Amino acid sequence: MIKYVIFLGKPGSGKGTQAQRFVERGWAWLSTGELMRQHIRNQTDLGKQVSHYVQSGALVPDEITFALVSDFLKGLSDEARVVMDGFPRNKNQAQLLEEWSTRNGAELILAIEFCLSDDEALRRLLNRYMCPVCGFIGNAPGRCPKDGAELVRRVDDDEAVIMRRIQDYGNYISQLRAYYQRLGKYMAVNGMASPDTITKQLDKVMGVGLR
Ligand code: AMP
Repeated sequence: MIKYVIFLGKPGSGKGTQAQRFVERGWAWLSTGELMRQHIRNQTDLGKQVSHYVQSGALVPDEITFALVSDFLKGLSDEARVVMDGFPRNKNQAQLLEEWSTRNGAELILAIEFCLSDDEALRRLLNRYMCPVCGFIGNAPGRCPKDGAELVRRVDDDEAVIMRRIQDYGNYISQLRAYYQRLGKYMAVNGMASPDTITKQLDKVMGVGLR
């Protein structure tokens, strides 16, 4: 049975950094943003459809987003453990995911929200450098420690676009929080804590998924 956790949190809250630590332990990483950026880089039809949304920090329509998600999930083994990072972003996407899970016998372990202030999220994103090959996230220019590629700034890590993304997050998070609280599957972590402290906390709850 596929089991998954959902990482909720503003851009810059540390979801991607934590997701990568779990990828190193065999979890699959579903980052809809990363999948979209790959399509844009490879100039696929889908990439052309989504590029103006991604560049301006607007949400991509749910049908397009969910088509990407279900393609990704179809490719997984039955035993897969998945970290969802940046998906679902609104209640409709949460419902689509729940329906998919019911149809396919997949199970949500927990939705975990990384909490931090807008100012801190903005500060982090203005100093974020990413690997265009593997998605590694750093806070200084240079080369990726994993594959040596030159780290780059994301085009949507621009102050005006960041503010829009943070605002969008604020518009949708209360309905998502309520959705997962109702299911009894919501937990919050302090996104200001050190990455190692957060990993330890996540280990405790995500370890359940490995049994
Ligand atoms: P992220 O990498 O999660 O920060 O996402 C980057 C951008 O990709 C977002 O600003 C949106 O334009 C798009 N995107 C990523 N995930 C979603 C989603 N679940 N729904 C709609 N748009 C998304």
